This record gives sequence, C-alpha cells and structure tokens, in this order.
Amino acid sequence: MSLKSLISQIQTYDPDAEVELLERCYRFAQSAHKGQRRKSGQPYFTHCVKTAKILAELRLDTHTICAGLMHDVLEDTGVTREEMQVRFGTNIANLVEGVTKIGQYKLSVSTPTPTTTNTVEERVYRQRQAETYRKLLLATAEDMRVILIKLADRLHNMETLKFLSSEKCQRIAKETLEIYAPIAHRLGIWRIMSRLEDLAFKHLYPVEYRKIAQLLNQKLAEREAYCDKMVKQIRQELEKRNIFADVHGRTKHIYSIYQKMQQKGTPFSEIRDLVGLRILVKNDAECYTALGALHHKWNYHPNRLRDWIGQPKKNGYQSLHTTILDDGKPVEIQIRSYQMHKVAEDGIAAHWSYKEGLPTSKQGRSIFASYKQILEDIQETQDSPHQFIASMKLELFQDEVYVFSPKGDLFTLPAGATVIDFAYKIHTDVGHTCVGAEVNGSVAPIRRVLQNGDQVRIRTQTNGKPSRSWLPYVKTATARSKIKHWFREKDIADALELGKKFLTAELRVSYLNARDYLNSPKLLDIAKQLKLKNLDELFVRIGNGNESATQVVNLLKPEVPKHETETVEEVECTQKTASAPAIQLENDIDLGMMRIMKCCNPIPGDQVVGYLTRGRGVSVHRAGCIRILDEPERLLSVNWLEKSSSENGNHPPDIYPVKIFVECSDRPGMLGAITTAIAKYKVNIRSGTFQPSTERLDPTASDYLTIDVTGAEQLEEVMQAIRRLKGVERVTRKF
Ligand code: MN
Repeated sequence: MSLKSLISQIQTYDPDAEVELLERCYRFAQSAHKGQRRKSGQPYFTHCVKTAKILAELRLDTHTICAGLMHDVLEDTGVTREEMQVRFGTNIANLVEGVTKIGQYKLSVSTPTPTTTNTVEERVYRQRQAETYRKLLLATAEDMRVILIKLADRLHNMETLKFLSSEKCQRIAKETLEIYAPIAHRLGIWRIMSRLEDLAFKHLYPVEYRKIAQLLNQKLAEREAYCDKMVKQIRQELEKRNIFADVHGRTKHIYSIYQKMQQKGTPFSEIRDLVGLRILVKNDAECYTALGALHHKWNYHPNRLRDWIGQPKKNGYQSLHTTILDDGKPVEIQIRSYQMHKVAEDGIAAHWSYKEGLPTSKQGRSIFASYKQILEDIQETQDSPHQFIASMKLELFQDEVYVFSPKGDLFTLPAGATVIDFAYKIHTDVGHTCVGAEVNGSVAPIRRVLQNGDQVRIRTQTNGKPSRSWLPYVKTATARSKIKHWFREKDIADALELGKKFLTAELRVSYLNARDYLNSPKLLDIAKQLKLKNLDELFVRIGNGNESATQVVNLLKPEVPKHETETVEEVECTQKTASAPAIQLENDIDLGMMRIMKCCNPIPGDQVVGYLTRGRGVSVHRAGCIRILDEPERLLSVNWLEKSSSENGNHPPDIYPVKIFVECSDRPGMLGAITTAIAKYKVNIRSGTFQPSTERLDPTASDYLTIDVTGAEQLEEVMQAIRRLKGVERVTRKF
C-alpha cells in the first residue's frame, strides 16, 4: 500500500489531515526499517503501513496514524525517543513509547495446570506476571490511543502469525484471545475484536475452527436462499409502515459460534442459528416501529427480547435484539440506526475526534470512563494471577445485566452475577451479612443468578457472616476480594488464638506459668529475634505452624540446656542404687560412654532412643523427647538390660525418682486420696508441692509430685490408680 492511497483514505474522513507530517513519518519509518524483513519475507515496513491502515479504517486522528507508522521504530531500530520527539513532537513520541512499553510485557496467560501451580517459583512468577499485567492495563487507560495502536499492530501480526514458530504462535494467539480481544470488546471495537478472535481461535483450536468453517460453507447456498426470502418478507412488512430499511443477512464470526456451542453444549449437528439478520434504519423511533412490525407479523421469543437502546451496554453498544419464530425456526434479528451501527462496529473509535485525538461525545467519554473504572476495580483485588485474569476477562468481556434496588436505582453487573455480587455492590457490610434476597418479590437464595430487570431486595442478618461456600457463586472481582479479605482477617484472629493455646500448653508441659510468660519481655525479645513486630505476630506464626511452640518455650527457659552443644547433666542414679540403670546398644555395639539424659529422665521400661553425639558418646532419651534433634542418621536403637535376679541378690530393687503432674478438681481431701492411692503401691513420695487447681491450662510450676518407682511399669500402674480417683482430670508425666 502506497503513501498516496493511505493519505487519500484518511482524507475521506479528515479533509484537513496533516499530509506533510504523515509523509515525513512514513519516510522516516521506511528508512529506519530499511533492510529489515518480516518472518514472512516481506519488507518489515509493510507491517507498519498495514497497522496505519487499520487505524485509518477506524478513522483516527493524524497523530495516531503517524505513531502507527512508527510504532516499531524505537524497539527495532537505533532511533531514540529524543530524536523522535525533536522531529515529530512530544505527542507522537509519547504514543510510540507507550506502544513500545506494552510490547515489552510478555504476558503469560495459559491456564495453570495443577502440577505447575504448586511450586513456589511458579507462584512467584505468576504473581509477577499479574502485577505486570495490572500495570499494563492501567498504562493503557492513560491514553486510549496507545491501546488502539497496539490493537491494530496485533491484528496485523495475527494475520501473519503462520510464519512464526508454533510455540510463539500459541503464546501470541492465547494472549490475543485472553487479553487483547477482551479489551477490543470493552472498547466496543467489534470490527477488530471479531477478527482477533477468529484468527486466534484458528491457531489455538485448528480442528474446531475447520469444522465450523466447513459447516458454514456446506450450507452456504441454503442459508443465502433462506436469508433472501426473510429479507424480502421483512422489507415488505416495514414498507407497510413507511420504513425503507437496509436489511441484510449477517454471518456470525466463527469464534462466537464456538462459544455458543460451548455455553449450551450444542453438538455441531444441532447448530441452527447460524443465520442472523440486521435491520438498519434512520433513527431510534424507526427502530421501535420496526420491532413492532416484526412482532405483529411473527411470533417472538419474549425471553430473548433485549432493548440495548434504552439501556446501552457499557461499551456504548445500542440495538434492539429479538428472536422471531419463522415456522418454528428461530431467527435472530438486530435492529439499529446507522449511527448505532457505526458505534457497534468501531466502538470508542466511532466517537473519536480526529481533530483532537480524544473521545469527544458524552457517550465516548463514558465508555472510556467505564473502561478505566473496571481496570481500577480489578486492580484492587488480591486474587491469584489465574483468578485475576479470569475476573478481568469476565468484567471486560461479558455482557451486563441491569438490576434494580427496591427504590428503583439501577445497578450494572456482569452477566451471570448473583445475589451475593449485588449485595457487595451495594455495600461491603451488606455483602458480609447477606443471607438471601427477595427477587421480584419472592425469596431467592444468595446463589440466584440475576436477570435483566430483576428488582432485588437483599436480606441481611445482624450476626450474618461470609462463607467460603459462597465463592463458587461469586462472579465479580469486587465481591470476591471482599470475601477473601474478610477471611484473611478472620484467619489471622483464629491463628492468634490457636498460637496462644499452643504456647500455653507447651509452657505447662515444662511447668511454666502462662501468666508469667505470655506477655513477658523475654517473649517479645524472641519475637524480635524472629524479625516479628510484636507478640501477636508471633502467636499468629505459632498458630499457623510457621514457628514451633516447643522451640519458643525452649528459648524461654535457658536454664534447661538445649542439647549437646550445652552441658547436659547426667542423671544421678547413684543416690539409692549401686549403679546407673543399665542400657545397651542394639547388637551390643560399644560406642563408649552412654548417658541417661535428665531432660526427659528415662527409667527402665521406657521406650528409649540413643543419640550419637559429636564426641561425647551416646546420650539416651525417652522416645519422643523434644530435645532429640531431627537428625535420623544419628539415632541409634538402644535397649534396657534385663537385670537377672541373681545379680540383684537380696538388694532392694533400684528405684528412680519421676516427676508427675496431677490436674484435679479442688475437692476437700483430694491430696489425701492421692497419697493413699500412691501408698498402696509402696511407692515413696519424695517431694511435691501439690496445690489442686481447676485452672487446667494454667498450672503453676509447683503443682507436681516426685515419686520413687522401680520402673516404667510401676509408674504406669500408679498413674492409672490416681486417674481412677474421683475428681482427677489428668495425670501426666513430666517430659
Ligand atoms: Mn508491530
């Protein structure tokens, strides 16, 4: 396409176009791309001219077309922004720079598979992608023309996509279908949207594409004959009412047929409504007259009647839609004025002032405003990247429903929105406390999908709260983000409570008083060491399992040595017995010194584990002792040695002191009952400050008894006996 034909095309709608500027840009881009070729083998510059031509089809201003001609100059040639600005002015340089920036975002839009979403890297990557994407969308909202140039660029790239590698093809086609086509739809540029969709669909689903295309071809003659018949009949009906309309058949684009099949689950053989008719008339009044004429002559489907003239779509689209029944066969008909038709095809570009490079009409500005509003709404959600893109598509792409409040205020929601979406649309608190609704006077559950014209009264309950079970019924990004936010806050509160409970229980096991420790400066120090701001954050981390309550308690009591690195006292068994309890390694291996650890105080009969220390022999713990480090390769099997009776001779049996903890109700005589029970086993109570307490979670450090037993077996018997006493709630051994 030559410069001359481009300029004459522009002059058809803009006689005052800046021809000299266009010529300079054309030649500049031509020489900048000199020698470069497209993958198709054509000179690179043809792509620039094609892009400009698409922009001229949309009747855009001179600056936009100039920027279209030069849109790849900054990225692909040595020219700088400064040079461009000096030569062609700030306005054009800004546009080219904007397009270049968008081109730098490589958007990952593929649906994540379960295996790939789980890795941390993948999630981080997607998070970053979503962030980039948000920025991209907001950047386009600053100057509409940037996205219009990008759409034209993308359209021509899609037309020449087959020359790229198949991997690149797939990525670009996906990005087109998921991002650029929805944006074109939101801006109402049907002409570009339908071409982008069909081209992307062809590359992504070649089999389905071919099937539908074939189907359309097969029945072409039949369809055309039918169309001609209907066109004639409709014209006659309209002429009776003095309307001389432009009536023609229209073929739906392939992707829209595919979507309809998907939505309704229709097989190929049953697709019937491939035919649609369009009636173009002079003005609004004629639209309604024409509708009346059709409904007078044919039966129609009342549920499919839409008045987009009275309630234009957010992208500015206006038309009357009706489905008439011709011998029982449904025929979709659109009725619109010529002006509406221009908007339907070109969207925001139909409202463009090629003089000012801005949308000038009120309608154009409102399309632009709604686009910006949607971007801002979506930007506020904190969804996963996948969810984010899904919301984006829904909000930008779907049709809308119009519903009314009881007072008659009009609300716009994306099609498929439910009662719960509406509740959040009114107010966050209305959403949180929503329990259902009255739709058109009858009771409806929160999951009810709203229809055009529904009058909705939300029912709330003072103590109502959101439920995760709502999420499948939520369609809008706003409602989703508000519900998730509520749960995030609640989860934090729950984790905080749980963390406190864990810590209290762990303190009790170590005979520490929760009252003394939960608010202690020492605990705050621990939180600070973990780089947390305050105690609440520490509790939350413990509650969520990110920190171990045991470890925190260990840090709180430095008097108890942590492990091998610190000196661990060996149990003093010599007091009453001739020797330490005998223990041996499995298979009788001798690794030197064996030490019974005081931390968990193992006694014969206990399940024990050996831990091979670094240079200090083997230390023996009770199985499950928290001080055994998680180093499986250092754990050894150990067994108690059976002492033969002959060896013992007439010596009294060895005895071992064990600390036990008794929780019981505060009834009179409790202590007496416990001591009597213990005495039955001829077991000595060595020491104990026993203060029965009903406060289960908060025992004091002194609530224990130390008893002398001959081994684990006897200990268990004694503990069972105490447990059987009335009023005793729990008997535990100090770990
Ligand atoms: Mn390009």
